[in-house]
Amino acid sequence: MFTEEVREGMGWRANTVVVGGGITGLSIAVHTARRLDPLREPVMVLERDHLGSGSSGGADGTLRQYYASPVTAGMARDSLRVYASFEERVGRSIGFLRCGVLTISPSAQAADRKALRQNLRILCELGIEAREMDAAAMRELIGGIEVSDDARGVFEPQTGFVDPAATVEAMAALARSSGATIRCASEVSEVLVDGGRVRGVRTGEETVECERVVIAAGGWSGGLLSRLGVDLPLRAMRVPQHFVSTPGASDDEPGCESDPLAGDSLEASGATRFYDAESGELVAAALEDEDASEVRRAAHPVLLDQELGFYARCEPCTGRTRVGRLGYEGWEEVDRPADTATQADVDFGRWARETLARRLPAYAQSRDEGSTPWCCSLTPDAQALLGPTGGVEGLFVASGFSGHGFQLAPAVGEGMAQMLAGQPVSAFDPVFFDPGRFAAVPAARSGGAFGL
Ligand SMILES: Cc1cc2nc3c(=O)[nH]c(=O)nc-3n(C[C@H](O)[C@H](O)[C@H](O)COP(=O)(O)OP(=O)(O)OC[C@H]3O[C@@H](n4cnc5c(N)ncnc54)[C@H](O)[C@@H]3O)c2cc1C
Repeated sequence: MFTEEVREGMGWRANTVVVGGGITGLSIAVHTARRLDPLREPVMVLERDHLGSGSSGGADGTLRQYYASPVTAGMARDSLRVYASFEERVGRSIGFLRCGVLTISPSAQAADRKALRQNLRILCELGIEAREMDAAAMRELIGGIEVSDDARGVFEPQTGFVDPAATVEAMAALARSSGATIRCASEVSEVLVDGGRVRGVRTGEETVECERVVIAAGGWSGGLLSRLGVDLPLRAMRVPQHFVSTPGASDDEPGCESDPLAGDSLEASGATRFYDAESGELVAAALEDEDASEVRRAAHPVLLDQELGFYARCEPCTGRTRVGRLGYEGWEEVDRPADTATQADVDFGRWARETLARRLPAYAQSRDEGSTPWCCSLTPDAQALLGPTGGVEGLFVASGFSGHGFQLAPAVGEGMAQMLAGQPVSAFDPVFFDPGRFAAVPAARSGGAFGL
């Protein structure tokens, strides 16, 4: 509704309002603000709570490029380039650590081997460095890993992970320096539409007049859009994540890891060790600083284990390892994303620990460091909805990332900005992500583990 009362009460004016201060909204703001004059055509991000209070704050931050589709693999490749060079270009650290990502195939069966090789071919065609690994190569890469003799995996040596909270902060700083305004504690309660066009948004008592609104509100997007009469298949899901201590990480030096490879006891316990697969040298992941006290290491590459259904990535600055489910089993639909409980259930924590220790027995003695659930948005084919929606001029959605949106955010931001500017979209395939695709072809695609 757009009444006279609202028209009179308009407090702020923007060209584009982005709803949601997660990694997606901030990346869209960066790229959109760069294309516009900040005084005449302001870009405003409105965030209901604090930046990163949605799933971006809890993301694992893994930057995998191993996808079954060239569309998402290409976006992940382009986004990795942005993340990997972020500190050099922008001058802010986002905690990028090039420790490699190892994806273990679901099984040694012919169909899974075929899928693995197909995916690998896609990566090679896109110029992404990745190599197939047999059991011996995986054992050489990660000392102590338990894999069957016929196991197969794919290793991406050039990637790793970022620190999600630092990345959100850095992306916000970049958005501000590109001319965008960010307002936290500003919950958008309503999108104002008049004559089939977006006219503004309402936050509490205030209204912001604008021509375009991008709903990048993560697990909240479906509810916000349905209040406008736009029903998209976006489900808000509660996703648990568990933390355990990383073998060999020091208790004595919080904030800085000890060498996880040092010490006889670790040697004897078969603790996780990271060797360069080609040279055979012990490398313990990327070293980012010459000063030994500042060196950050990952005890092992990120593990995406399709066989046992989990992921594990070290968090060197806390000495913990994050563990979660790979795939959507155990995700729980929630009505109110903001009420997502603060503690994940005990059973999940036990499962995470035991499953990780089956693959890497060095974790069998690890301490439990607690669990945290986060809210994610899920679509029927596990791919995002990106583009205009609802038949309302100026209304766009960028949501439904189904657990793999952090690694795609730079490409999404660029492509959405191209779309908003009415330019051809080169940063992603808008047909692949068309928000209307389910209406046209029901159950057109179905997604596997994290959109694979
Ligand atoms: C445990 C876990 C691990 C993950 N690991 C990875 C990973 O390793 N790699 C990867 O690529 N992805 C990962 N993901 C997925 C990734 O976190 C998400 O895809 C991505 O962060 C989505 O970002 P977003 O900005 O779209 O949404 P969000 O980060 O959820 O941001 C949406 C924001 O909108 C705000 N908002 C909501 N409603 C309103 C409103 N009405 N008005 C104003 N603001 C509003 C929210 O407060 C929130 O801050 C993981 C997710 C989880 C839960």
